[in-house]
Amino acid sequence: MLFSPDNLAHIRARIAAAEQRSGRAPGSVTLLPVSKTFSVDVLREAAAHGLRRLGENKTQEIKAKSEPLADCGISWVMIGHLQTNKAKEAARLADEIQSLDRIELALALQKRLEIENREMDALVQVKTSSEPSKFGMAPEAVAAFLREVTEQAPRLHIQGLMTLAVNDSDPEQVRACFRRLRQLRDELAPSAPAGVSLARLSMGMSGDFEMAIEEGSTEVRIGSLLFGGRDYSRA
Ligand SMILES: *Cc1c(COP(=O)(O)O)cnc(C)c1O
Repeated sequence: MLFSPDNLAHIRARIAAAEQRSGRAPGSVTLLPVSKTFSVDVLREAAAHGLRRLGENKTQEIKAKSEPLADCGISWVMIGHLQTNKAKEAARLADEIQSLDRIELALALQKRLEIENREMDALVQVKTSSEPSKFGMAPEAVAAFLREVTEQAPRLHIQGLMTLAVNDSDPEQVRACFRRLRQLRDELAPSAPAGVSLARLSMGMSGDFEMAIEEGSTEVRIGSLLFGGRDYSRA
């Protein structure tokens, strides 16, 4: 067996416990399995266990996996930095993008979505730490961005915000990132443009998802804890 139902059950139990501990409604936090680097065989088993919405960070990888898994009914979610010249692939293959972080990308996706006659859900990726390596939009820029997207990229349906916390051994630094995203959402929600929802907050990964749930996450993106360690040499 390639896929571990035990890992899945264990993660679901930890999500449920974190929901309860932090006064969140049962079932209010969704699991987004992150399947990057994991094989088609593993994902076929995962799909058989009900995991049919998967996060990937490269369009090439979605492309390579979506054909052999075409019979599994998988919905692909783009969570990695997307170059504008990959918008065509993303618009064709993904049902959602969580790494929308600039207007050029929104416009490129809009154009390709028109050609494909498709629409996409989107989360705006926000930079909540000063780490130079993290992609995402500055928090101050998000309000104007929401207006621009509704006016110029109506095939993108904004549903919320996404962030990656700082990679820091101090848990309080990590927690501060989650708190910042939630505060930003609370600030922006009352005046969000018509058609924009900020209900979803995608934050928390294998190492920090319980803290993210305590701070208001509605969706945790979990790879290694679910599927095992990643082998980048084969990616
Ligand atoms: C890889 C990845 C994850 C999952 O990371 P794990 O630590 O394996 O759970 C979550 N979010 C993004 C954007 C990723 O690239």
